[in-house]
Amino acid sequence: MHGFSYKNGELFCEDVSLQSLAEEHGTPLYVYSGGTITDHFTRLDKALSGVSHEVAYAVKANSNLSVLRLLASKGAGFDIVSGGELFRVIKAGGDPAHCTFAGVGKTREEIIYALEKGIYSFNVESEEELRYLNEVAGELGKIAPAAVRVNPNVDAKTHKYISTGKSENKFGVDFGRIADLYDSAAAEMPNVKMRGLQMHIGSQLTSIDPFIEAVEKVIPLVTALKAKHSIEFWSIGGGIGIVYQDSLASGSPDWWSAKSDSERPLTIEKYGEELVPRIKDLGLKILLEPGRYIVGNAGALITRCLYEKKGSAKTFRIVDAAMNDLIRPALYEGHHDIVPLKEPTDGELTKVDVVGPICESGDFFCQDRPLPDFRPGENIALMSAGAYGFTMASNYNSRPLPAEILVEGEDATVIRKRQTLEDLIAGEL
Ligand SMILES: *Cc1c(COP(=O)(O)O)cnc(C)c1O
Repeated sequence: MHGFSYKNGELFCEDVSLQSLAEEHGTPLYVYSGGTITDHFTRLDKALSGVSHEVAYAVKANSNLSVLRLLASKGAGFDIVSGGELFRVIKAGGDPAHCTFAGVGKTREEIIYALEKGIYSFNVESEEELRYLNEVAGELGKIAPAAVRVNPNVDAKTHKYISTGKSENKFGVDFGRIADLYDSAAAEMPNVKMRGLQMHIGSQLTSIDPFIEAVEKVIPLVTALKAKHSIEFWSIGGGIGIVYQDSLASGSPDWWSAKSDSERPLTIEKYGEELVPRIKDLGLKILLEPGRYIVGNAGALITRCLYEKKGSAKTFRIVDAAMNDLIRPALYEGHHDIVPLKEPTDGELTKVDVVGPICESGDFFCQDRPLPDFRPGENIALMSAGAYGFTMASNYNSRPLPAEILVEGEDATVIRKRQTLEDLIAGEL
């Protein structure tokens, strides 16, 4: 489910017309479906119900305070990658005791802040970091709860920029060195307590196979660590992929049943069915760190068409959103479906490039894609923009950040105001 559909010829998010939101709040505009976020969280929680588990939502996918507050109210923990994200979680009413802190380059200030707030685990990515954590915790007279991120050297078969579980990636510690590192921690690092083991092999995985491969490879290791060092949790990471193509149709059961098994993307139910039997008897608390799965399909970026420019080789539709608002196409060759807010009636398609106003040739949302007609002055939606959309936005070209709206049923709330020109220069001399 994703909460976006045409009703009487107009695109809605739940029970709110996107055209009315665009008229009231301007464009570009991020709109999220609260019902979809809740539905995805609940379905994941249910799929894992056969095993003791906790969902630690990966904050970097969408870190708006209201999104965090909604997830905290459903019982989510949080996976953070910076002191700034911890600050956001606390401001949103999340509990630091349910936060895990990932990332290869934690600073001294971030370590101290997280120690003082009492997070659940530092997920450490190198021996050097573990020794430094021990040192800083010692200075503060504290014991730092920790887990090491194992790099299982499994090919996640996803885009190279979002693959993280191969030996050539910067993430984690080689599988073969983990056992020794836990022994060293026990012998030489009195200010760390090894509480678990962590892994995360990549993002936007659309096949179950790499998950199974990684889990099966790591089970003997985690079993040995539990026996020898009494660890209590195993985080199997995030990375569950979502449907980016056919995004309007894919919300409906008809689309689903029309697809063969191989065309159907990884479902959360399948993820649970395959993984739970393999991990349920380990006697460990299983942590999950989904980001994209929870929020990706729950958001759209609404943008207005400014001009149509007919070049000698191509037709460009220039819109008021740009790569500074949504960088996934430029950064990862990411696909976003593009649909007019006014439902197309004639089925006619024209091959166009949809591009933003920024002075970069990488500033496009699609190239040579057959799209239904939309005219300058009309609004379109870039679908599935709820994850790694606003959180990656920047002020490049001195463009103010867009506003964000959370829809719940008939209610639409501004959860972040559009930046003003004054906001752009705040803090500058
Ligand atoms: C980014 C990240 C996640 C979330 O990845 P998704 O693909 O959004 O589910 C989980 N764990 C870690 C350590 C990450 O860096």
